[in-house]
Amino acid sequence: MQLSLPVPKSPSGKIYQYSPNPNATPRLFLIGEAPEDRSIVEEHRPRIRREPGPGQTVCPYSGHVAEDEAFTHADDIEAVKKHALWMAENDVNSFLGDWAKNFNRKQPRGSFITMKMEHKPRRRPKPLAIREDLLRSLGCNVCARAYGVYALALFCSDCGSPNVALHFRREIELVQEQIALADELDTQGRGEIAYRIMGNAHEDVLTAFEATLKTVHAHLVRTHLPEQLEKLTGKKAVGNAFQNVERGREVFAKIGLDPFDRLDAVEIDHIRLNIQKRHVLGHNLGIADEHYARFAEDHEPGETITLIGEDIRRFAELCFRVVEHLEDSLIPGVGLSLS
Ligand SMILES: [Zn+2]
Repeated sequence: MQLSLPVPKSPSGKIYQYSPNPNATPRLFLIGEAPEDRSIVEEHRPRIRREPGPGQTVCPYSGHVAEDEAFTHADDIEAVKKHALWMAENDVNSFLGDWAKNFNRKQPRGSFITMKMEHKPRRRPKPLAIREDLLRSLGCNVCARAYGVYALALFCSDCGSPNVALHFRREIELVQEQIALADELDTQGRGEIAYRIMGNAHEDVLTAFEATLKTVHAHLVRTHLPEQLEKLTGKKAVGNAFQNVERGREVFAKIGLDPFDRLDAVEIDHIRLNIQKRHVLGHNLGIADEHYARFAEDHEPGETITLIGEDIRRFAELCFRVVEHLEDSLIPGVGLSLS
């Protein structure tokens, strides 16, 4: 006999999954629905790792592919067991109830001795399993599968195509919302809070950019040069190198990649300037110091640096182009050009 019971779902209709790959950090993610009539466009074909649909699942954090069953979350097994037990108890209860009724009905009327059977069912509430949605809910731009992850994931959990640019695009959308909010507050005469929100939006671009470079770099080393993992991704080798264009380039050069090679000198300078700006905003309350003033000719030391929404948007767009280029190195079968 095979019982099939529904697995608990999150408010947005997704189910828990747990990556069987112990190297994946984190391991929890959520998988949702996909439209029934989906198809992969021809130009996306080289990006997928598997034909989307049931059978196998892809770990969004590590790209590990395994049978669907390998991703079942232990909490769901527990929830299904509890649910099955509850259903069995209910069945036994209603069987005993029916049996008692039947027994009572069959008692002869007007007899010297009558017997009555009483059955008091113990009603237990249906077990409740709560599943929450994770912070990032996305839909793959290749196969349209909905899924949810903590922070950054590299691959779609269904077709396995690289989704890191999709994630970064989402970050930019949030940054744009923050800029719009800051502009709105500024027009209401609330300049101080507007400046702070603008500063956070600016910082979020750099944080997302740094985290993305770091995650992609670590993944590439792990998959292409596993024996050099410690040497190339350790604290000493990476540290905060991705907060700096030159040092970031050096780290990537060791695996034969230049993430910035699709940008021209002016565009790279814009990224450089904004990284400096971040430093001033984060550590000097937005007051330009000597170092920054040397970098950006429009500010004297001691001046509060300006933050314009348009500049932040441009900074985010340039970072996006770097990420988009880097994403190509995650396409199945693409190797590193190591000399
Ligand atoms: Zn997909």
